[in-house]
Amino acid sequence: MTLMNDLHRPYLRCRSCQERILLPFSTLEEKSIHQAGWPSDTWQRTFLCLRCGHVYVYTQLHAQWEIFRNVDLNPLPKDVDVVLFEIGCATEGCKSPVRFHAAGDILPISTRTAATVAGATFHDVSCDQGHPAQNRPGRAAGTLHIDPRADADWWK
Ligand SMILES: [Zn+2]
Ligand SMILES: [Zn+2]
Repeated sequence: MTLMNDLHRPYLRCRSCQERILLPFSTLEEKSIHQAGWPSDTWQRTFLCLRCGHVYVYTQLHAQWEIFRNVDLNPLPKDVDVVLFEIGCATEGCKSPVRFHAAGDILPISTRTAATVAGATFHDVSCDQGHPAQNRPGRAAGTLHIDPRADADWWK
């Protein structure tokens, strides 16, 4: 067994339900995220937990590693996607979206995932103008437009 077989899979511990939010272990540069020195002191992203629907800001303090001695023991052989969601700010007239990420094998978005987004609960999350995100953004039927896209730069 060589060190090459060690797999460092990053995850965030959900700040609400404590479930692990599993993150990709590779970067586009074909350098593992572990080798890239992630996370930096300044890394910060907002993540939705698909299990409980709570959205929190995550920093270096919340990042943890699960280390597999052999790639074959990894229960998730397929890498997961980090997806960026943008939804409209609830403040009238504001054009700045509320942005947050979710991780998993979730593209294309299922109705279940869409429902989780529509019923999300936000904690200290705001649009770029500082307006607090509104809980359950899909409460007004038909007004929530979800157009998620894979984000390869989530770790930077
Ligand atoms: Zn959770
Ligand atoms: Zn706003």
